[in-house]
Amino acid sequence: MARMIPETDPLARQVRALARRQALPHAVILTGSGEPLAAARYLAAALLCRSGDQRPCLRCEACRKVMEDIHPDVRVAQDESRKELSVEAVRQLRQDVYILPNEGERKVYIFADCAQLNERDQNVLLKIVEEGPAYAAFVFCAGSAAELLPTIRSRCVELKARSGDEAPVSDQALELCRAFAGGKVLPVAQLLVSWENRRVKREQLEQILQDAWRVCAAALLLREGKAPVAQSGAEESAALSRALSPLRLQKLTDCLHQFAGECRYNVGPGHVLGALTAQWETILG
Ligand SMILES: [Zn+2]
Repeated sequence: MARMIPETDPLARQVRALARRQALPHAVILTGSGEPLAAARYLAAALLCRSGDQRPCLRCEACRKVMEDIHPDVRVAQDESRKELSVEAVRQLRQDVYILPNEGERKVYIFADCAQLNERDQNVLLKIVEEGPAYAAFVFCAGSAAELLPTIRSRCVELKARSGDEAPVSDQALELCRAFAGGKVLPVAQLLVSWENRRVKREQLEQILQDAWRVCAAALLLREGKAPVAQSGAEESAALSRALSPLRLQKLTDCLHQFAGECRYNVGPGHVLGALTAQWETILG
């Protein structure tokens, strides 16, 4: 499975908000310090998703194909062997744009590294961005927007991937981590049941589990005698590193990561909460 950015990435929220308003732009410059290709794929999934609301749904056939990097209407232009894309590659692309999409309603062209586009290439691309068919979308991944000519930039919307500043850990994640640090089955089970009763949403649960995972990962570092980067949840990390053996802590960290991922692939929150309770029992067992 090709990598995509997590739902918690600020860019994912922006893309979802734009998709809801039917306002996904047809030409985008993706900048920022995250993984540009993963961010570009997320955007491509939103453009090609067959689901009515909630795009990308990450479960329809189109989304799955984008995630698996096998969608015929997504082209990634990159040349790992050269510094610049070849003239032929850009020419081929110019012809390809006018061939109708195979499966989707859009065709998405991803330029994995705009540093590979010289001025001549960019001028060719400018024409397609300006005059190409309405179904064609372009995603330019760049270290900074300045890698692109002002003429192209003026036709694109710039979206920034994760800046590196992590949001603070949510209160619910802290509560969960304190329950884990208690080292008992029941308090954790009760907390998870209370969330289920309040019908916690899938996205919210994913965020909680990701946050809790960050706290546990920091606790593991503490256990190994390394100092984690200062972050919210430092107290809870310290408590976890004191309360749990390295093996238990490792297992807990892994299972939080796994369940956060399952939320993303649309496993129901009730199921995830039940499985997490069972897993916690096994870890303590
Ligand atoms: Zn979808």
